[in-house]
Amino acid sequence: KERDPHEKEFLQATKILFDSLIPVFVKNRTYIENNVLERLIEPERVISFRVPWVDDHGNVQVNRGYRVQFNSAIGPYKGGIRFHPSVNLSVMKFLALTQIFKNSLTGQAIGGGKGGADFDPKGKSDNEIMHFCQSFMTELYKHIGPDTDVPAGDIGVSRREVGYMFGQYKRLQGAFHAGVLTGKGLNYGGSLGRTEATGYGTIYFVDEMLKDQRMNFRNMTIITSGSGNVAIYAMEKAIKLGAKVVACSDSNGYVYDKNGLSLQTIKRIKFSEGARISEYIKSHPEAEYFDDCSKIWSVPCDIALPCATQNEIDEESANMLVKNGVKVVAEGANMPCTIEAIDIFLDNGVLFGPAQAVNAGGVACSSLEMAQNSARLSWTFEQVDEELQKIMKNIYRNCTRAANKYEHPGNLVIGANIAGFTKVADTMIEQGVI
Ligand code: NDP
Repeated sequence: KERDPHEKEFLQATKILFDSLIPVFVKNRTYIENNVLERLIEPERVISFRVPWVDDHGNVQVNRGYRVQFNSAIGPYKGGIRFHPSVNLSVMKFLALTQIFKNSLTGQAIGGGKGGADFDPKGKSDNEIMHFCQSFMTELYKHIGPDTDVPAGDIGVSRREVGYMFGQYKRLQGAFHAGVLTGKGLNYGGSLGRTEATGYGTIYFVDEMLKDQRMNFRNMTIITSGSGNVAIYAMEKAIKLGAKVVACSDSNGYVYDKNGLSLQTIKRIKFSEGARISEYIKSHPEAEYFDDCSKIWSVPCDIALPCATQNEIDEESANMLVKNGVKVVAEGANMPCTIEAIDIFLDNGVLFGPAQAVNAGGVACSSLEMAQNSARLSWTFEQVDEELQKIMKNIYRNCTRAANKYEHPGNLVIGANIAGFTKVADTMIEQGVI
């Protein structure tokens, strides 16, 4: 707090982590004696750089780029790249910190990192996006590599942007290193199933939560915030398992239909037309559109899946969800619930799945992409999906086991943080003070 008083999101993430780890520190002095926590919350390296580019009108624009290489105890840094105007060092550090424990939980050998820029892709031409990606990579390429740091996509960065960045990396290196980025196109080392992995993985995790309570997705009413990569594939899998998705949003507003939304229409609007979710009611006049996206949490549901961005569920929204009888809240996005909101869910017996466990399917699948690249092989969709299901089940089991061991049964926030932390902390101690 004294070092970084203005890093709001980073301090929020460290507080959630510290509070969850208290039971470990009470039982195990080794971590205190080795000062692991203080070492852990200091990134190994922070890179901040200028990203100059020329827009379609010939004007020179400048953005700020980042890569936070937070922890490499168990493997090369791994974490997405976000292009969004809200990107700053605090956001990058909170995302990279939580990525360490998420990656550890997947059981794969990957450390934690995150990157991005305060660039707003909205309204930019394809040409402008390409020039921006090339300029971004012209600095970033010095710091990444298949065995050092492997970035991927995140908000505002999908296959197209990864393609432009990969092309520039290849050109600058003069060599084809397939494993330097994940989320690539299928023709040059991308993995089948990666696009769907975070959304599907979210639902596989919630399925485990439900099964533990002798419930399942059949006839469950769901709301999902966002209508991007994570939200759409979470909706797809939930619908396949028998649920009804009644609302979803974008940063302008949300659509609601008590009889269930048409995923086909949502995909058309978002993927083919790149349009706003408000378009939905044009082809579905039976649905309603509301201008304020934050009010989506007033819609009654059994399962709420925040899949858009950080701090989208505050105290007021959490109280609304509880009042309307929500049974499960699972974080598809990173840190979408404030500390106060999480407390409200836990205090009211709502099953709560934290991001580092729930949305770990994306990075787990990225790690499978790295494995395929090293072996110069391509797995089938079914192989990847089967592996993803196994990984999500394991993550759930490890979280519940840790929560039970440290006498907080059912508290998956504590379980996920402890399970992710102990592996990284033990490794840091084994590797000495470095
Ligand atoms: P996308 O860019 O594909 O989609 C983000 C969606 O959220 C868009 O529909 C966007 O709307 C919407 N959104 C943004 N801000 C708000 C807001 N304040 N209220 C409502 N909707 C909003 O991103 P992803 O789906 O990839 O990522 C979503 C979240 O999941 C992020 O937190 C990300 O870090 C996390 N995540 C993603 C992974 C992945 O594999 N993609 C892996 C693990 C975590 P609009 O179009 O208006 O901006």
